[in-house]
Amino acid sequence: MKIAIEELAGCSGCTISLLDIHEELLNVLKDHEIVYSPVIMDVKEPPNDIDIAFVTGAVRNEENEKRLKEIRRKAKKVVALGTCACYGGISGLSMLSSNEEIFRCVYQGVETVKEGNLVPGKVPPFLYRAFAVGDLARVDYYITGCPPKEHYLNMILPLLLKGEKPGLPRKSVCAECDRVMGSVEGWKMKRRHEGTPDREHCLLGQGYLCLGSVTFGRCGATCPHNNIPCHGCNGPSLDILREPCRDIHNLIVRRIVDLTGLPAAQVEKEMFDIAHTLYTFTIGSLIMEDKETSKIRDLVKGGNI
Ligand code: SF4
Ligand code: SF4
Ligand code: SF4
Repeated sequence: MKIAIEELAGCSGCTISLLDIHEELLNVLKDHEIVYSPVIMDVKEPPNDIDIAFVTGAVRNEENEKRLKEIRRKAKKVVALGTCACYGGISGLSMLSSNEEIFRCVYQGVETVKEGNLVPGKVPPFLYRAFAVGDLARVDYYITGCPPKEHYLNMILPLLLKGEKPGLPRKSVCAECDRVMGSVEGWKMKRRHEGTPDREHCLLGQGYLCLGSVTFGRCGATCPHNNIPCHGCNGPSLDILREPCRDIHNLIVRRIVDLTGLPAAQVEKEMFDIAHTLYTFTIGSLIMEDKETSKIRDLVKGGNI
């Protein structure tokens, strides 16, 4: 198969994650050829006869949109690779600020710039909002993760390159986590910098906003196993995707209510900065925004869209 890897608005980490499968890559390259990847080879334009294109990054500006349409036209199969491509990822957070604020911050507000206007003349114009790849083009398969983990890629790539569609794991991150629920008496929501979580008990039960129960599992619960709450980089769990009335916000509130017995109104009041804590990776996704219970519409109202 001829493989292409296209880059849109992202950090290229997803392309590097493909290289991170290490010697397995040699097996892939025995039967397949990478014909286009601006990050890892010096080919500027995608050829015409691509069998499978991995698209990484969100669609944030006119150039991203043009490149997406072109690769869709030239490839038989398109795979959205990584959470930016699947749900808009962190590029979606740009919708919380105006274009002027973003340019000022990126090109002028850094310590190393002392004076003058460094905004380059030829920046592709922003679209009116960020989009996930699937919002603007047909996608044949989605691989989430920021970036997708090596063991998951190793499992899934050989099947995709054989032309198969691997089944989706149904489990959330919690199902991969080996922490046990401790006492939740006197439960209070904590910011990440407050105290040090104990290593045995559920982080949510300790008051840390761990999103494991509302996040697609396939990362091996990497963060909770390293004493860090899950911040949802694998995208929403399958039940959220399937049920229009389920959303990250209302499900995590319900989970905390079930756990602690506190009234939902109190839990909601304790939530802080929900754009950056609950919707960090999904705010740019129309699928997530269109859910009737989604908070995304309210969050982006004051921003750039
Ligand atoms: S999903 Fe994460 S690793 Fe991949 S391009 Fe986006 S920010 Fe980078
Ligand atoms: S909420 Fe977090 S810490 Fe608790 S079981 Fe789920 S993944 Fe583990
Ligand atoms: S635990 Fe959560 S934040 Fe960490 S890698 Fe897994 S999905 Fe991403």
